[in-house]
Amino acid sequence: MTGLRATWAARREWFNSTDREQRIKDYVALSNQLVWQRQASFLAAALLTAFYFDPVVASICYAGVFMSELLDQLLGARARAWDGKDPKVGARLLKSITINTIVSSLAIGVFVLSIAVQQTSGGHFTPLFFLFSASLFAAMYNSQLVNILVLRLSIYGLTFLAIAFLDVVRYRPEFSSNIWLEVFTILFVLYFIIDTSMKFYKSYQERLEQMHRIQEEAERTKAAYEIKSQFLSTVSHELRTPLTSIKASLDLVSTGVLGEVPATLTPALSIAAKNSQRLSVLIDDLLDLQKMEAGEMEFNFKKIDVNHLVEEAVESTEGYANKVGIPVTTTLSPAPLAIHGDQARLMQVMNNLLSNALKFSNEGGSVRVHVTSNDNRVRISVQDDGVGIPEEARSKVFEKFSQVDSSDVRKVGGTGLGLNITKQIVDRHKGIIDFESERGVGTNFYVEFDQVIEEANEQLLDERLPLTA
Ligand code: ADP
Repeated sequence: MTGLRATWAARREWFNSTDREQRIKDYVALSNQLVWQRQASFLAAALLTAFYFDPVVASICYAGVFMSELLDQLLGARARAWDGKDPKVGARLLKSITINTIVSSLAIGVFVLSIAVQQTSGGHFTPLFFLFSASLFAAMYNSQLVNILVLRLSIYGLTFLAIAFLDVVRYRPEFSSNIWLEVFTILFVLYFIIDTSMKFYKSYQERLEQMHRIQEEAERTKAAYEIKSQFLSTVSHELRTPLTSIKASLDLVSTGVLGEVPATLTPALSIAAKNSQRLSVLIDDLLDLQKMEAGEMEFNFKKIDVNHLVEEAVESTEGYANKVGIPVTTTLSPAPLAIHGDQARLMQVMNNLLSNALKFSNEGGSVRVHVTSNDNRVRISVQDDGVGIPEEARSKVFEKFSQVDSSDVRKVGGTGLGLNITKQIVDRHKGIIDFESERGVGTNFYVEFDQVIEEANEQLLDERLPLTA
């Protein structure tokens, strides 16, 4: 018994603290949402009653129901304005909901009871059925606030019983008469309504608990994600500083500034230099990725000359192109083209596309860069005759740490982060990045951006129009 009481106390505590706001908001929102459905059924009931019974009584009862509906709408406006924080407002809302519930269920109770009183023979099918519908409606849609549901159903239940015993009091029938049969049928219906309400209440409860679990899970995931990002950022920063000094020291040794380097040391030094370069690229990529995901990467948008950007990018990869022995040709747009972008980030995009094209090129191949425009869109494409990307790997290419050939026999190095970062940068420019590729034939990666139309050009275009018209 004590255990049961404790469970109920815990439930009440839980209801009062965590969810009250949510429940009140849910209750009022749903009740306001169903206003037309409810009004249509009340109006239909009132019209029928007015036609078959006393129209004055029907109108008065309908006015009562309508008034309670107005109160509900006012309550809806107050609940919507409530941010769910101040518990005092919540308590006031709950009080108003209680008053509205009493007004509305009494109005409905009196309404159906008045019909039953006017029916002097043939049972009370009509009022009972109206009441049954109202009870079922409450069972289905009022499970958010169990006290309110119980209050409403109690008033309906009393009305049911009043109708049930109305004719027993009126006619004092024999136990074998239909009037008693109706009484027992009503008791059965009451049981059915209570059972249904419990089921709807339980399912709402489960939904709410599930929502809590999902919220908790989301919070845990967010916290873990933040810790991971912070860890990644700290580690990357901590690695970068010593690595910079390792690279600098290696440079000093290799260039012979510190004394002549014995020939036997040269291969080891070159391996160390290459690997520290790879590490430094990985760290830069990780830091970029982390900044991008945290929304901390700054973009300095301004008008950019695309031809100029491409020329500069090709120039900056010249050293690497020479090293791998792949010629790069550039076809710029005949007219200057401008886009809105961040110069440094777009250079990063171009460098990634160019270095990939060179990296995955086959001996004897070449890399072609084109700048074109169409329909106020500017396209930069980087085409190679390299290994290509199989169609089944298409979805992987822009993912993090994804490498189409991640096998041990992979010839070229990389982090698998470049294209993911590149895509995020392009997305921030509201551009697109995509590729066409054939395995063993080559790949054409392209990016597209909105062209910035110069005002002078627009004017020129406007002036030219009348001539062509
Ligand atoms: P990585 O550091 O490995 O180059 P990226 O994100 O830049 O990482 O590229 C992801 C993968 O996409 C590469 O590992 C490679 O398998 C494939 N890829 C990218 N560009 C090309 C290209 N031009 N030709 C063939 N494969 C490419």
